[in-house]
Amino acid sequence: MPLTAGVIRRLDETVVNRIAAGEVIQRPANAIKEMIENCLDAKSTSIQVTVKEGGLKLIQIQDNGSGIRKEDMEIVCERFTTSKLQSFEDLSSIATYGFRGEALASISHVAHVTITTKTADGKCAYRANYADGKLKSPPKPCAGNQGTQITVEDLFYNVTTRRKALKSPSEEHARIVEVISRYAIHNSGIGFSVKKHGETMADVRTLSNATTVDNIRTIYGNAVSRELIEVGCEDAKLAFKLKGYVTNANYSMKKCIFLLFINSRLVESTALKKAIETVYAAYLPKNTHPFLYLSLDISPQNVDVNVHPTKHEVHFLHEETIIEKVQQHVESKLLGSNSSRMYFTQTMLPGASICASELVKPTSSTSSTSQKSGDKVYAHQMVRTDAREQKLDAFLQPLARPQPPSVLEISVSKVVEDQKGDTGLSQNASVEEINDFEMLDACQVADNTKECEIPKDNAVASTSFACEPPRTKRPRRDSDTEMVEVEADKTVTAAATPRRRVISLISILNLQKEIEDRAQKNLQEMLRHHSFVGCVSPQWALAQYQTKLYLLNTTKLSRELFYQILIYDFGNFGIMKLSESAPIYDLAMLALDSPESGWTEEDGPKEGLAEYIVQFLQKKSEMLKDYFSLEIEDGNITGLPLLLDNYIPPLEGLPMFILRLATEINWDDEKECFESFSKECSMFFSLRKQYVLEESSSPEDKDLAQDAPSWRWTTEHVLYKAFRTHLQPPKPFAEDGCILQLANLPDLYKVFERC
Ligand code: ADP
Ligand code: MG
Repeated sequence: MPLTAGVIRRLDETVVNRIAAGEVIQRPANAIKEMIENCLDAKSTSIQVTVKEGGLKLIQIQDNGSGIRKEDMEIVCERFTTSKLQSFEDLSSIATYGFRGEALASISHVAHVTITTKTADGKCAYRANYADGKLKSPPKPCAGNQGTQITVEDLFYNVTTRRKALKSPSEEHARIVEVISRYAIHNSGIGFSVKKHGETMADVRTLSNATTVDNIRTIYGNAVSRELIEVGCEDAKLAFKLKGYVTNANYSMKKCIFLLFINSRLVESTALKKAIETVYAAYLPKNTHPFLYLSLDISPQNVDVNVHPTKHEVHFLHEETIIEKVQQHVESKLLGSNSSRMYFTQTMLPGASICASELVKPTSSTSSTSQKSGDKVYAHQMVRTDAREQKLDAFLQPLARPQPPSVLEISVSKVVEDQKGDTGLSQNASVEEINDFEMLDACQVADNTKECEIPKDNAVASTSFACEPPRTKRPRRDSDTEMVEVEADKTVTAAATPRRRVISLISILNLQKEIEDRAQKNLQEMLRHHSFVGCVSPQWALAQYQTKLYLLNTTKLSRELFYQILIYDFGNFGIMKLSESAPIYDLAMLALDSPESGWTEEDGPKEGLAEYIVQFLQKKSEMLKDYFSLEIEDGNITGLPLLLDNYIPPLEGLPMFILRLATEINWDDEKECFESFSKECSMFFSLRKQYVLEESSSPEDKDLAQDAPSWRWTTEHVLYKAFRTHLQPPKPFAEDGCILQLANLPDLYKVFERC
């Protein structure tokens, strides 16, 4: 086929206009920006915007400005008609937004435009419709307030390609709100509002008497507005002036918000944005950004606003030098704000006696090495930087720490509550704490005694222990100076340090090895050096290790602790002696009565079972006493093992413990027997939620608990102290939520360092 040349034709004028209009007005937000600038040029103090479907269906802008004279209404939408510019020379000193007379014309080529306007001296308002830059019919007189209302309907109805290129109405709406928000911040003193058609609540509303910071607060929130630093500088030689607000180094967010106005026109300057972001990069956490509002006034002669029809990206004379000046100024303000920050003395180490309202001015962190003499920081003003120095909860609690109690009182069980009144537990009983010298001969004098009292009326059965600290158990192997056989040293005086029996049972040694094999070194390291932060509940506590914060399951950890104590101190426990013994029969009956036992009719009568348990445990009593310091005499429990100094197991669990001793233990195999006994016993000893007396319980409970160490005290000073030295945490604790890392703080520390 022969090539035929395309015929060049002159484009239809309306098509040319439409294409040109699409260049100027690319989306609803552009049209709104142009029209807002017209309102501002007309000296309005109130600008109300209503939009429908992201501005594509309807944009309506009402102002209270000068209005348009009736005689100008005919040409107002024609291209190159403007009231603001007369000669080319005027361009260099332009002080108004519009100057090309292009905006309204462009809009009228791609939408249906209606203008209703009234000037101050006009007798009435006039309304007119426009299409393709032309008035459709003569303006009609109508009622109206002073100012102008411009309605733009069906934007891009005749430019389908443009319409298709747009994002969703909701996205367009968001852009509209953004443009109006920015103009609202830049134009404090003018009330702006934008709302969806038909809705009463505005998306943004600012008041004409609000300040710039008020407007930033209204639009971007308190988090931004309270961290603002005012900036401002000028340079006569370069003929520019800067003012604005930027966030300090305490504030950062994922996306940079940069409001840039040059000569009061919302513009973009990639170069300036980059320059300022570089400043912040040194102060903010990685990948976070500041909020910036900058208004730059540059001598109009030096600005080339005629770059692009949309007038977004602006260039100006001495651009690089001006940007550098702005950059330096922002940086100096940023540093200045840091060194002038004030700290209240509540961040001091507790114990310092300084008036709480006194202010401490710390040295500038930016020059931490070169402390100025006037900024000396005294020890009592120092902020905790080493986790081992003090615990965080010291900052939260009264300074007086409870002394190790001389009288302990524990309320026994809600389980026991309302149960039979004639059991051993409902009678007065006391526990005498001794070391098991009768068993071992090598001994310490039993000068520490415990009183265990349980009131007769058992509405709330309680146990009280009177004991005088310090009490000691036989030391662990590693601190033993002498390892001796049990019978070896019968001549030790009463005051001597008790000696340990050396255990060479293969089963126990194997169980010890299993504990070592299961141990997780990192967890152990963490427990060893942790700083206790505080109790969340009887079951959970918080601890800090290095820069990490952990949530620890006290119940599980204490259970493991007691298990390991039972295995490692096997045959070497002290005894907590009950001065009045607890009948196993009654304990077993209590346990069987509780739903936890799972007893059913098929198991046979409870009495028979309880009787059997008494007989059975009696048979094992010798072994239990010798190995585990569990004393049974004539069918009664008379002593319990002392596993940890200053720790009394929740006695509410005693009935269940007794029942489980008879049912859950494999007595035939030596290793399994020791292992399962230790498991049951450690469960009984562990700190469990259900057995802890809540602080907010009834007044009588409070009375009872008055002098007792709280579970909080015991958790911190007995259990977690023991976790440091005695516990080898097994690997699964890191995975099953028993030890949970909540937070790692290096980022936060980074921010602190800068403050
Ligand atoms: P420019 O702003 O470049 O002059 P526009 O097309 O935006 O051109 O506006 C054309 C003219 O219409 C303006 O010069 C102004 O006289 C008039 N005008 C537009 N909007 C308003 C308004 N809200 N209040 C008063 N006059 C207006
Ligand atoms: Mg204009």
